[in-house]
Amino acid sequence: MTLPAGIERHDFDGETGLATRGSPVYGEPTDGEWRRWDPHRSKLGAMLELGMDTGLDGDETVLYLGAAAGTTVSHVADFAGPTYAVEFAPRPLRELLSAAEDRDHLFPLLKDARRPETYAHVVEPVDVLVQDVATRGQARVAALNRQFLTEDGRLLAAIKARSEDVTAAPEAVFEDVVAELDDHYEILETDRLTPYHEDHLGVVAQPR
Ligand code: SAM
Repeated sequence: MTLPAGIERHDFDGETGLATRGSPVYGEPTDGEWRRWDPHRSKLGAMLELGMDTGLDGDETVLYLGAAAGTTVSHVADFAGPTYAVEFAPRPLRELLSAAEDRDHLFPLLKDARRPETYAHVVEPVDVLVQDVATRGQARVAALNRQFLTEDGRLLAAIKARSEDVTAAPEAVFEDVVAELDDHYEILETDRLTPYHEDHLGVVAQPR
């Protein structure tokens, strides 16, 4: 697997794992300037660990939907360029703000990802749209935010089956979500995120 510039496999006390360079955010192991990117705590980390072809090569402009307290988006901001982080819950956003304190190109936005018109004036066209919103209507959120992606940009989405329907079989949910995504994106790759995240599907796609 080729890792984007700024992400390396690093040894942390005898355990090797993905790592980025930056200040720690969630109590992850560190070694000098490197901090471990835990794939059990991060769907994008799991996608990389599973060898999905994310198309990331470092330095890209990113819009991240569902940033929560910044676990994953802080790693993204460690290797990417301007990183806009949308989160609609005020509580995790407070922690996200402290992760952004020493990351000068991480921009937290207290916004609803279903209302892109409320941040369209702030967010520039992006190379990568990362989505981890764990809410009903995940395909719709991706469709609504497609407008920010450059023509050859990438959508890197983690779809949580239980957020769509707690009772349906995850496979059936994924099929429906991918079919809806397919109206707006060309699907390049999908993979289940087990063993890191149960009932999640990783999706790599390009805008149509
Ligand atoms: N991506 C995070 C990480 O890896 O560190 C974890 C994200 S958590 C699974 C999902 C987050 O999406 C929650 O913090 C939730 O508040 C947020 N979210 C759900 N629906 C949203 C929406 N419509 N707009 C913005 N954030 C939303």
